[in-house]
Amino acid sequence: MADRCFPNVLPDFVTEEQEEEDKVTNGDSLMKLLSMPYTSISKQFQRSGLDLKETIVMETWGLSGQIAQDFTLYSGILGTALLLFKSYQVTSNKSDLFLCFEIVKACDSASLASRDVTFICGRAGVCALGAVAATHLNDKALLNHYLSQFREIKPSRTHPDELLYGRSGFLWACLFLNTHMGQGTVPNTTIRAVASEIIKNGRAFAKKGGSPLMYEWYGERYWGAAHGLAGIMHVLLDVELKPDEFEDVKGTLKYMINNRFPSGNYPTTEEDRKRDVLVHWCHGASGIALTLVKAVKIFGDKEFLEAAISAAEVVWHRGLLKRVGICHGISGNAYVFLSLYQITGNIEFLYKAKAFACFLLDRAHKLISAGEMHGGDSSYSMFEGMGGMAYLFLDMTDPSNARFPAYEL
Ligand SMILES: [Zn+2]
Repeated sequence: MADRCFPNVLPDFVTEEQEEEDKVTNGDSLMKLLSMPYTSISKQFQRSGLDLKETIVMETWGLSGQIAQDFTLYSGILGTALLLFKSYQVTSNKSDLFLCFEIVKACDSASLASRDVTFICGRAGVCALGAVAATHLNDKALLNHYLSQFREIKPSRTHPDELLYGRSGFLWACLFLNTHMGQGTVPNTTIRAVASEIIKNGRAFAKKGGSPLMYEWYGERYWGAAHGLAGIMHVLLDVELKPDEFEDVKGTLKYMINNRFPSGNYPTTEEDRKRDVLVHWCHGASGIALTLVKAVKIFGDKEFLEAAISAAEVVWHRGLLKRVGICHGISGNAYVFLSLYQITGNIEFLYKAKAFACFLLDRAHKLISAGEMHGGDSSYSMFEGMGGMAYLFLDMTDPSNARFPAYEL
């Protein structure tokens, strides 16, 4: 375990100074950041986020000859496009929007032959982000192009149900379009049909006496956000389900809570109930905490809030990972605290998000250079690399409206 994360020796809470003063530093640059007034640290996050964005654009687009070798949002240049869109939302700088759109166009050509249907790893992400960017640019012709291309994408019988490659990842793209462009952009009949299929498959695969819904991906019954129950339930909770379907989603989440590890963490798969190791968005407490927070909003059950808070405790103690990204790194784990801050209004959660983000701000580059932290398999990507960290920094400038990229609507 120790080789996966840094021991978290950060204080459980630090009161912010009203004004910036040097007296609180004790020579420790991280402690200085933690005690700064939020307005000051927010400016630093914005500056670093925008600087990083420039580097990421240069590394993933400028130096590649503007070719989309990997078009996906997960590890490729659609992630750069999403970061540019975020930057545009924060600063209203139109050149970011133009560049976002240019990159989406390259992704459009590169993904034509792709069979992947999701937002994060497939063509649905390209068409959905293209349509939203076209709307902001007031380009009706390209808006129609991306919407008509989106309508061509249909999950087949052979697609799985999970988030990164399956039906729920396609469903999320539909919900993204409706959130940004108005309900009905993707008709409710389409959304209902995909959701019903997911529920039907989950019921068929579940065993008597176990979880009401269960799914398989490459022979494993995963629990986490990327390939398993947490990700699928997270998307379903944003759909208008029938009462019996909502009951099965609720029952599935309760099944997970009842079968979690004594530590408060969650197994990676149904089969692997002994290895209490991973505290990531993709596998483990972090991704599951985000789904539990969503469940609080939908069902209002105290049990879900308590479980989300205890999952966040695990993330606080074991989530200072030796990686920067959002999938299995510190940036993704910071979103757990942001999500809890938004639902509870408790500034201790905002502090914890700030503490993880400040740890990155203060140390990520140094630790990566020293070989003590992994820079990510795709170092500048949204899910595994610096892209996710830059996105988090930009989100920290408005923590009440922060959303885990490509996952929280
Ligand atoms: Zn991961």
